[in-house]
Order: sequence, then C-alpha cells, then structure tokens
Amino acid sequence: MIARSATVQHIPDWQQQLKQAISDIEELLDLLGLDRCLLPAAELAARKFPLRVPHSFVARMKKGDADDPLLRQVLPLGIETEQTPGYTLDPVGDLNAMPQPGLLHKYQGRILLLTTGACAIHCRYCFRRHFPYAEANPLRNDWSQALDYIASDPSIHEIILSGGDPLVLSDRRLAQLGAALENIAHVRCIRIHTRLPIVLPDRIGKSLLGWLNDLRLHKVIVIHSNHANELDDSVARALSKLASTGAMLLNQTVLLRGINDNAKTLSNLSNALFEIGVLPYYLHLLDRVQGSAHFDVNAKRACALVETLNDSLPGYLVPRLVREQSGALGKSPVN
Ligand SMILES: *Cc1c(COP(=O)(O)O)cnc(C)c1O
Ligand code: SF4
Repeated sequence: MIARSATVQHIPDWQQQLKQAISDIEELLDLLGLDRCLLPAAELAARKFPLRVPHSFVARMKKGDADDPLLRQVLPLGIETEQTPGYTLDPVGDLNAMPQPGLLHKYQGRILLLTTGACAIHCRYCFRRHFPYAEANPLRNDWSQALDYIASDPSIHEIILSGGDPLVLSDRRLAQLGAALENIAHVRCIRIHTRLPIVLPDRIGKSLLGWLNDLRLHKVIVIHSNHANELDDSVARALSKLASTGAMLLNQTVLLRGINDNAKTLSNLSNALFEIGVLPYYLHLLDRVQGSAHFDVNAKRACALVETLNDSLPGYLVPRLVREQSGALGKSPVN
C-alpha cells in the first residue's frame, strides 16, 4: 500500500475537471475530428479571449460537424477579430453601475455581486469577454465591503450571485457568503446565476447540496442553456438534485444566429427544460459586444420567433424576450 500523508488535501473531482478544461484549439479540433484549416484564424481570435471548454460539454458535441450548436458557442473564429460599428467593450454599462467594485445595483430590491471573474467555459458571445475582472472582483479576498453595503440598505431583499460563474467558487467560500447573508435581516432570497450545472454537472456534489439544503433563504437558481443538445442525462440528474434542495430552477438563453434562432430549436429547448424541472425565464437579445456581431439576431426576427412560440407552447414555456440596456433601470422587454 502507498502511504498517504495526512496533509494532502483532497481536491474535489469537479475541480480537477475544471483544471482539465480544454484550452488548446488543436486538441479540440482533433477530438471532434475537424479540419485543422480552422486553426490559424481561431488562434488569432483566441488571443483576445481564450478557448475554454470542459470535456463533459465537448462529449455532447457531434463529431465531424463544424456547425454543431454546442461547438459554435465555444470555438474561436476569425470573424471575431473584425470591428463592427455599434459593438463596444462594455455594452451593458456595467462599469457605470458599480457603487463599489464588483457590486451592481441597477434594479430596485436586488443587487448583483460579481463573485469571481472565472468561468468553466468561455462563450464566444459573452458580454463580459472584455471585462476587467481583476479590478471588479471585490470578493476575492474580502466580502466585508459588499456585505456592509447590503446591510446598510434595507430595500435590498435579493442577492444575485453572478460573475463569471459563482459556482466556480469552493463550497467553503459559498458557505461563508451564505452565512453572512443570512445574518442580514432584510435579505430574504439568494439567486445564483450559473452555467455550471450545464457545462460541468459534476459540480453539483454532496457538499454543495448540503449547503443549499441548510440555507434558510429562498433559493433561485438560474441556469444558462441555449440548446436542447446541452441537456443530457448527467445534466438532468444534477438539476433534479438541485431541485431537491427546494431551489426554484429557471433558465436563461441567449438568442444566437446559427445556433438557436429558429422556432423549432427554441421550442425543443423549452420542452426539454420542462422535462427536467426547469422553466424558461429570459431569452436575451445579444449584447453588442465587440467580436460577437456574427451571432446577432435582430429584434424584429426575435419577436416573430417568440410569437411562433406563443402559438405552439403553454405560456409558462415561453421565455421573456429582453434586451439589457445601458443605464436603464431593469431589463427592457422587446416588443
Ligand atoms: C439581470 C440583472 C438583475 C436581475 O434582474 P431580474 O429582472 O430580477 O431578473 C439584477 N441586476 C443586474 C445588474 C442584472 O443585470
Ligand atoms: S457562462 Fe456566462 S459569464 Fe461565463 S463565459 Fe458563458 S456567458 Fe460569459
């Protein structure tokens, strides 16, 4: 037998998977049996925003298909390096809405905390692809400033953990934050915006579930899925465990040209979400962030798509079409 030192720390399996996420474009193309002619342009685009995708997400992609809807969300393309007028570095005005670094207070009653800059996956359309995470990350070492702000404003009832992806944080950090929030009398609800149950379902393990179970706050978990192909059995299992903690499960989707911009794909997604206990919440128009113009679906087409959904789905399976507007109070519905 091999003697094990008592000081060796156990690294949870999900953290190992996170470390092993693919960042090498050639490796991704080879795994999927794709032509390397895509490589030079992809490498250029990846210099601005690197490739990052966990193996478990790649396993749900179709081999040999460069247009696979999951692959298209993560594969850097040369077209991203083109400058498009009207596409900026901070399209939602995050940097202006911060009373403190990393804390967004745009909407009444709710506050959004950028808990970490890290994500398990890099979505090419991400509006935070140019975001100065390092400067906007108050909680890395010290929660106290953000907690003081929340404690001093009794109108704040709901705390939204966002990022990056808050579930990239260790269970220990999450438990610390949860305990501190429970100590503020006017905080009643914790909402977690996360893509991890989709892209790294093994994240939903015993200790995270134990923490959620014990939390005395109302819990809302908003996942982020754009296509029914993302929802395999491992995701279904992770979500049913989350639901068993009493958390309400909602989904947000980004409308993406060439990935989910047709009524059939969107209604398949709504139905697949329903099957695993999740209701559609938001359908976001793309944020006009530099490098993402090729994903844009215009508002008129988006409205037509949602109207088709209204005809074919029960109302509770039709997401609300919204656009994030710089400086506006609340997401604006698109009609
Ligand atoms: C989206 C968002 C919220 C939450 O808005 P809801 O309408 O409650 O979903 C809160 N704060 C910020 C900064 C947001 O972008
Ligand atoms: S999971 Fe969300 S925050 Fe992370 S890269 Fe994708 S869109 Fe951006």
